[in-house]
Amino acid sequence: MTGDEYWDLAYRNRDFEHWELNYPSPELAALVAARTLKKTAKILDVGCGGGLDAIFLAQCGFNVIGVDISSAALGIAEKRAQEAYVEVDWRLGNVLDLPVEDETIDLVTDRGLFHVIEDEDRPKYSSELHRVLKLHGRVLIRGASKESAQDRFNPVTEESIEKYFSSKFERGPILPFPLFSTVGVMDGRIVVLKKCGINKSRLFGKPR
Ligand code: SAH
Repeated sequence: MTGDEYWDLAYRNRDFEHWELNYPSPELAALVAARTLKKTAKILDVGCGGGLDAIFLAQCGFNVIGVDISSAALGIAEKRAQEAYVEVDWRLGNVLDLPVEDETIDLVTDRGLFHVIEDEDRPKYSSELHRVLKLHGRVLIRGASKESAQDRFNPVTEESIEKYFSSKFERGPILPFPLFSTVGVMDGRIVVLKKCGINKSRLFGKPR
């Protein structure tokens, strides 16, 4: 089964309560409430799934693109957006080859996608996010911690964030974070990255 078939099956069987929260994610609401985003901000939700976060952002008045590899997920998201009378630009696609124009995005939000991206694909994940972001644009990532990842997830750790992002992004602290779903909670991590103008690694050398 290919990646998109796996996810399509989950969404078609409505078997996504293990990751979806039936509410916009609180950390995203906090980001908006703290007025960290301009009213005209363009936001990209990668691995948007059933679309609740993207719909919330559209309700806040932002210009929102939701990308997911599963057409079934986007079908659910589109229906929900219609019911909420908001417009989101849903695009079927892979985060490793984003159907998004260069340097157009102010914020990328990722809830539970980076932690399913294999190491071999992570350089492409970070280069695609870098490509679509405007200068100083940010990425909000939430994913499983090392402790909770087991063999199901590729966790968000100091090492993985450092390895795949340090050359082209500045970053804040990687903080403990509960990843809630409708059926439970999983220990996670949250981090915000910011696209830099210059290649830090070339200027300062790679961190040891
Ligand atoms: N952000 C959503 C869904 C998280 S589950 C939420 O919080 O509810 C991970 C999502 O990423 C799924 O919807 C899956 O279809 C999607 N996905 C998995 N691999 C992907 C890829 N390579 N590119 C884009 N989306 C992907």
